[in-house]
Amino acid sequence: MKLIGNGILITRNSETPLLFDGCVVVDGNLITDYGKTQDMKEKYTDSEFIDAKGSVIMPGLINTHHHIYSAFARGMILKDSKPSKDFGEILENLWWRVDKVLNLEDVKYSAYATFMDSIKNGVTTVIDHHASQNSVEKSLFTLADVAKELGLRASLCYEVSDRDGEEICNQAIQENVDFIKYANNDESDMIKGMFGIHASFTVSDKTLEKCVEAMGDLDAGFHIHTAEGIGDLHDSLNKYGKRVVERLHDAKILGKKTILVHCIHVNDFELELIKETDSLVVHNPESNMGNAVGCTPLLPIMDKGITMGLGTDGYTSDMFESLKVANILHKHHLCNPNVAWVEAPAMLFDNNRKIAERFFNKPLGVIEKGAYADIIIVDYDSLTPINENNINSHLLFGVMGKNVVSTMINGEFVMFNREIINVDEKAILAKSREVASRFWERV
Ligand SMILES: [Zn+2]
Repeated sequence: MKLIGNGILITRNSETPLLFDGCVVVDGNLITDYGKTQDMKEKYTDSEFIDAKGSVIMPGLINTHHHIYSAFARGMILKDSKPSKDFGEILENLWWRVDKVLNLEDVKYSAYATFMDSIKNGVTTVIDHHASQNSVEKSLFTLADVAKELGLRASLCYEVSDRDGEEICNQAIQENVDFIKYANNDESDMIKGMFGIHASFTVSDKTLEKCVEAMGDLDAGFHIHTAEGIGDLHDSLNKYGKRVVERLHDAKILGKKTILVHCIHVNDFELELIKETDSLVVHNPESNMGNAVGCTPLLPIMDKGITMGLGTDGYTSDMFESLKVANILHKHHLCNPNVAWVEAPAMLFDNNRKIAERFFNKPLGVIEKGAYADIIIVDYDSLTPINENNINSHLLFGVMGKNVVSTMINGEFVMFNREIINVDEKAILAKSREVASRFWERV
């Protein structure tokens, strides 16, 4: 049994949102109790005490849309590439060149780098969307092996698309099915599989049908980019006479476990379909701004009661950074300084947890009895008073991912005092630079 105490405890449960001199009790992989440090010490005498030294103790963060495969693009210079004029050209000139040449060694080291970065930013669960078009087979298993070695909770899927021909498309479908069968029967509840699809504009009706048929009764949920660029909407209207969400709805892609990423160019009719089917939406503010694809209609989506979470889309692994940008993007976009104060933290702290709980078997992203022991210690000494009503303001303006000191996942520390526990971080990053430089030559 472990006690993490002597900290400002932010629980995210409604009963006791904030507790000074708080302490969490961890038994095995679960949180079994919490309370005042002295009380917990007296109640659980035979336990290891971890002193948070006045720092914040809070639930680990969840990233509901990430791209490990994009890691090696950091710092890469494509001398033969023209500047991209729009999102379609960004995909063609950059990302579709990257995912075409990734081999399984690249996949492995980009996973080490991204997962270690996630842990260092206090992220304890990552929902990823993967592509490596000429190394499809075993790619998800490679990612899963790294997540297991580091001790991180992850949901993985492969993005099916028609863009590299039927054979690769069929391999991608098979990789999703194989991985879902493997992961979703695993009792540890650390690794899950979803069924990935790239986007409406890169899959024919026939491919969508094949995906639905291959999913059968696996009930893993689809994970698909949805109406991200205006081109996705135009493609769907031109080829099928339907808007994107309507097309996906008619193809039986929507549902309680389906994640529709972005949802920028959607109208009210489409939001009704998302609401009716209780499908999930994930917003990625930095990526949307960087790709200049437009701004997700945050307020209409959340006013409808749709569960919308916050992701990073490969842009960063720091969820506090994503929170900060979500907060200001909508104020800027709507020319209204009064919006998104509630919605931005709700996406990260409430809805990401609700999304993850549709895939994992026990509560996570919360400190309460019976939840998974996914806990972070955050170095934060406040210059102003903290109370139950201003917690989100302190986290928004006072904390970055780099303030996370220690990260516990499933009851085990995977980072302690900024040191990654299960692997040699420096050696892996050195190897990662070596692998990445060979990868750059092939792009
Ligand atoms: Zn994405």
